Amino acid sequence: MVTASGDVRIPEQLGDDSNLIAGRWTKARSGARFPVVSPVTGAVLAEVPECAAVDVDEAVAAAKAAWPAYRSMHVFKRAELVLRVAELIRKQAETIAEVMAVEQGKPYTTEALPELLETALNFQLAAEDVVRMETPIIPMRDPAKRVLTFREPYGVMAVITPWNFPTVIPSEYLGPGLAVGNCVVMKPASATPLSMILTAHCIQQALDEFGVPPGVFNLLTGPGAVVGDYLVAHPDVALVGFTGETVTGEVICSRAGIKQTLMELGGNGPQIVCADANLEEAAKAAATGCFMNAGQVCCATERILVDRKVHDEFVKLIVGEAGSWVLGDPLDPATTMGPLNNEPTAVKTERHLADARAKGAQILLGGARQSGRPTDLYFPATVIDGVTRDMLLNTEETFGPVAPVITFDTDDEAVEIANGTGYGLQMSVFTSSIRHCFWYADRLRTGNVVFNDTTDYWEAHEPFGGGGGTKSGHGRLGGRYTLDDVTHLKTVAIDIEKTL
Ligand code: NAD
Repeated sequence: MVTASGDVRIPEQLGDDSNLIAGRWTKARSGARFPVVSPVTGAVLAEVPECAAVDVDEAVAAAKAAWPAYRSMHVFKRAELVLRVAELIRKQAETIAEVMAVEQGKPYTTEALPELLETALNFQLAAEDVVRMETPIIPMRDPAKRVLTFREPYGVMAVITPWNFPTVIPSEYLGPGLAVGNCVVMKPASATPLSMILTAHCIQQALDEFGVPPGVFNLLTGPGAVVGDYLVAHPDVALVGFTGETVTGEVICSRAGIKQTLMELGGNGPQIVCADANLEEAAKAAATGCFMNAGQVCCATERILVDRKVHDEFVKLIVGEAGSWVLGDPLDPATTMGPLNNEPTAVKTERHLADARAKGAQILLGGARQSGRPTDLYFPATVIDGVTRDMLLNTEETFGPVAPVITFDTDDEAVEIANGTGYGLQMSVFTSSIRHCFWYADRLRTGNVVFNDTTDYWEAHEPFGGGGGTKSGHGRLGGRYTLDDVTHLKTVAIDIEKTL
């Protein structure tokens, strides 16, 4: 294990033949490739294929051809296969996590390695849950009828994923998708394809060991607006799983038409701190929510709403907590926060802070990129007070290491601010009253609410996703709930009086 990103050895599987089509690792048809640059060191880590429509056609054709045999594989056998993927990822976890830390920027010990273990867990959970997918038998008014239901895979599933969790987000689709018998064509984010390509080697090894036809799982790298766009509109793709920005999700839905979609989109998670909360715990949790993965988490704490009665004390505590986050090289065990992943995210963070300052908010800690680092992406933990509803920090998703403090006077006002942005992914509330918990749980318009822990709390097997009708999307990722979203229910009615 090395302790500096510059010393990480990039495995030789990562290069211009990193496309996986029909069980073979290949180049883009055109031979084009693009560099993957480390946000930590600025070095080019590898050059990977830059695909186009022709590569998508090949991958989709391979998945389509593999599907009849793969869907008829017995479910217990498929479960064994998916469990084997989990085992192989666990064996490679340290190597893949090192690559993830240098390509994404997240700390190796506290985030990258745990992400790989959760990636493996998602395959394991899918393998365990798929063999217990019970479906109803429905009593009919016609006494001669017996009606049974079955969950069936869709066919070819497209999976398109972002750069903030390069392997765990793909695994939330791939584990369930493969376990139920879909064949997959996936496209990882162009900023962070390397750790996913290494994970794909584990998947393909398991597929080879089980002797399934080539093409059950395919991976293509390339620009979202070219490869992703063509893939989701492809007539032979039946199901689309997408995690990314809300605006991209809207474009994809319009291109996918009536195909089944799972859309895991942006968030603007508030942490609400009531006057009866344990303030030390609330400040610690808010810091985790704001600074984990440098704030680049869909359920990050994007806003801290604090009851005016405890504002001054809470602000002192959050500044203290934020000051303890150590910005640095993700491979250094002392580091708790790495650089931002990319320039657009840094620019957006600066834009939101500038807007807030111009409208009267005060920066109490951090607030600007640090100079003298290997790249220009090192942004320290930042606390800003006096944030109001009209500021971009409140209305939009920032996705940077910022703790914006907004003050409220009544619970009704807190709910109004929390619900007022159109996003509704995960929210958190700190209170010592169980009555308060249920009061808020009933009123917050969101897919998930956490009480007395960070907005960044989740476990792999709980249902996670946007609250109905919000900009955060639809469908559920997590454990057995995803199995429902990657299958459709087939109803079979039998007239037993007319059988032998
Ligand atoms: P993004 O939307 O820019 O890109 C996501 C993926 O979509 C990438 O692979 C990209 O290449 C591809 N893409 C881009 N344009 C496309 C198009 N026109 N057609 C098809 N594919 C296209 O998102 P990002 O910046 O990579 O990720 C950050 C966003 O993801 C944030 O908004 C974050 O909140 C969200 N996110 C949501 C969840 C969740 O579970 N709800 C989890 C993590 C991240």
